[in-house]
Amino acid sequence: MSLTKFLAGRSNWISRSPLSEILRKAGELKRKGINLISLAAGDPDPNLIPRDVLADISAEVLRNNPSSILYTPTSGIEELRVEIKRLLKRHENIDISAEDIVVTIGGTGAIDLIGRVIIDPGDTVILENPSYVNTILAFRQLGANIIGISVDEHGLKVQDLEMYIKNALRDGVKVKFVYTIPTGHNPMGVTMSMDRRKYLIELASKYDFLIIEDTAYNFLLYNKIDIKPLKSLDYEDRVIVVGTLSKVLGTGFRIGWVISSNEILMKIIDEKQPIDFCAPTLSQYIALEYLRRGYFEEYHIKAVEKYKEKRDAMIDALNKYLPGLKYTRPLAGMFTMLFLPDEIDGVEFTEKLMTREGVIVIPGKPFYINEEGRNTIRLNFSRPSLEEINQGVKKISSLYKRYIQ
Ligand code: PMP
Repeated sequence: MSLTKFLAGRSNWISRSPLSEILRKAGELKRKGINLISLAAGDPDPNLIPRDVLADISAEVLRNNPSSILYTPTSGIEELRVEIKRLLKRHENIDISAEDIVVTIGGTGAIDLIGRVIIDPGDTVILENPSYVNTILAFRQLGANIIGISVDEHGLKVQDLEMYIKNALRDGVKVKFVYTIPTGHNPMGVTMSMDRRKYLIELASKYDFLIIEDTAYNFLLYNKIDIKPLKSLDYEDRVIVVGTLSKVLGTGFRIGWVISSNEILMKIIDEKQPIDFCAPTLSQYIALEYLRRGYFEEYHIKAVEKYKEKRDAMIDALNKYLPGLKYTRPLAGMFTMLFLPDEIDGVEFTEKLMTREGVIVIPGKPFYINEEGRNTIRLNFSRPSLEEINQGVKKISSLYKRYIQ
């Protein structure tokens, strides 16, 4: 019997992440014993995460703290929220109180919850084009009318944004919010300049919209540049922050957060309770002790040094093996975007790269809101070793040469 007729009408808005399909195929090849180099997922390098320290903390928490395996408040454990507040003061110079934070199941949970409490079907919302694929999927599922504004090496083209907003207003359309990944953009690898950050904050006030600032890569900044988080420039409480420990502590802990003011957070807590009750309690206590005992600071510095080296290795390999192709030069984050010639289809290239060369990358296309980006592929440099980065790019170049011959 087909059960399709039981699906909600809304389920037409649900589509599969193209990333899961690629990772599924890669899993099949691995099970067949084929060795693959992955330049795909946005994971940290597990070798840079002190698993022994985490094992000790986990054992201690489980033994000594009976609450560590029970339900905890939907908003998150109070002491963890205090540690996150301190972390953000140290790293971002943001002054907030623990009450301004709700702990979520990763940044992903934060994005979904924010969308759920502020998007009505048909609302016009703006994302960078391209943008983080799970955000596009989440907001589409909520029925948002998503408009993409281009980015260049200085981040979101805020001037284009203003032009769009003005024209939309003339047509009677109001923009509800702009979602941006200003630092270490996924998938573009670019970082928004300070001038554009200020301009964006001014526009939000002038045209009365909210900003969702996704700070997933804020802890992974490799160059000393003069940027501040949008939240630190926010004088009207218009910036809602998405944060996560995933990229430093490990993506599997699933600890993220939302920062906003009371009206939004209260709705988020009420929305969250029937969905998941609370972010995983054990992960919250492990994160709490990790932060409280200063391990975050110690291992974060080491990770940033190593990722910088890997970023440089990726750029060197691209220069060496694919001279003449355009790619972004990340100041932060985990990715660079490679632009193949227009006539090459990135999705097909990605498939061939996996089956013929044993290298997994992610096509850029699914990150685009319109039909652009067919010729792009996203490369991750945080997870692979230096040798895998070099070999991976070399293999991309072998396949590329066969295309252009
Ligand atoms: N935002 C962006 C831009 C991301 O790239 C990611 C992870 N890929 C996330 C949010 C969410 O990560 P997590 O749910 O693991 O915190």
